[in-house]
Amino acid sequence: SLNERLSGLFDRLSGRGVLSEKDVDEALREVRVALLEADVALPVVRQFMTKAKELATGEEIIKAVKPADQVVKIVYDGLIDMLGGEEPEPLNLNAVPPAVIMMAGLQGSGKTTTSAKLALRLSKFDRKKVMMASLDTRRPAAMEQLKLLAEQVGVDFLPIVAGQSATDIARRALQAAKIQGFDVLILDTAGRTTLDEALMSEAAEIARIANPIETFLVADSLTGQDAVRTATAFHERLPLTGLILTRADGDARGGAMLSMRAVTGLPIKFLGAGEKVEALDVFDARRVAGRILGQGDIVALVEKAAQELDQAKATAMAKKMAKGQFDLDDLAEQLRQMKRMGGMSGIMGLLPGVQKAKKQIDELNISDKTFDRQVAIITSMTKMERKKPDVLNASRKRRIAAGAGVEVMEINRLLKQHRQMADTFKAMSRSNGRGAMGQMAK
Ligand code: GDP
Ligand code: MG
Repeated sequence: SLNERLSGLFDRLSGRGVLSEKDVDEALREVRVALLEADVALPVVRQFMTKAKELATGEEIIKAVKPADQVVKIVYDGLIDMLGGEEPEPLNLNAVPPAVIMMAGLQGSGKTTTSAKLALRLSKFDRKKVMMASLDTRRPAAMEQLKLLAEQVGVDFLPIVAGQSATDIARRALQAAKIQGFDVLILDTAGRTTLDEALMSEAAEIARIANPIETFLVADSLTGQDAVRTATAFHERLPLTGLILTRADGDARGGAMLSMRAVTGLPIKFLGAGEKVEALDVFDARRVAGRILGQGDIVALVEKAAQELDQAKATAMAKKMAKGQFDLDDLAEQLRQMKRMGGMSGIMGLLPGVQKAKKQIDELNISDKTFDRQVAIITSMTKMERKKPDVLNASRKRRIAAGAGVEVMEINRLLKQHRQMADTFKAMSRSNGRGAMGQMAK
């Protein structure tokens, strides 16, 4: 397995002082075979190897950590990069209501279940008014299934009218959602066990009529090479905007996830993690990269390497803060670090006597969910807005709220907390010119 291969590799590497280019090449050869064994598609493996080689020759990585850790870190970073980066790409609801979300995919991939999961998330956490409609005219029980799920999660369901075609239902759903003032309309479509032309053109026609802001390909993360063929076929015919991979709770090694993302270039936005309607996770590249690498020693090594890098970053940020600069990018980086370290740590630990700032961060009340939302808010801002939050007027906030799928109130709360923290840091650096903060500034 990939895990065994890498373990063996790192056993051989550990203990050596310096990692030569030859070592890197040899290590990457092993990684290449291992990825192929893990069912990652060949073109994806090739792409990965190019990336990894690039990273391996980057000077920053080379001097940051020890040789064996270095290779793990290179592979880990390469995987994360190919999985779309550390920042989860938020759900896009940035449309004149109703924002239409269309679900496409093979039969049994989890479209109907995932529709309900999304509906629950949007109505419960984001307080959106959600309607679901079943366009699955092929299986008699399909509409009934979605209706029951709608009742279960407490959202509206477009009444079933016998004899209508999928495109008729799409038009009717759009009309109803518009008239009744729904924020979001989720369209669940039919799927086949294999790709067929009739189904594809029907789906394409539905997309044309409903003009979805998000068109998701729902795919089973347990399917190996097939996953790539499916993703490619759907991507050719539909204006897909993202992937949702189901059965991530199974023993999927992540190979299919990596392949589908790489081949389509589409962001993986969510992972289905069980049969229950609550079992939907925002995609986390780090978790999946860890999974591809396997458990145990390797993950521990990665964490160690990441910590060393975190330490370096934290020192850099402490310097910045001591100069009284702390923008929203810095806050996002802080939040990310906290999530990685599972709590308040990192930079604050480097600064003596900063109980007040520490308390302010604690008050942000970081659970994984709020973390994701806060980072989503910050990533929905433009670069300029992150540097100069003062420019955030009402209309900018509305745009960001729509992009991040949150209420404006939440943005205000985040901004207020950021302002308090920035003020604290500034005050500290003024009053403490010869203390720890002052020293760091120098
Ligand atoms: P559809 O044909 O694409 O609409 O697929 P369904 O939503 O009907 O799901 C097919 C089966 O997969 C059902 O038994 C679901 O409970 C199950 N399922 C869907 N998503 C997940 C998931 O993330 N994890 C697990 N374990 N099962 C899932
Ligand atoms: Mg279905």
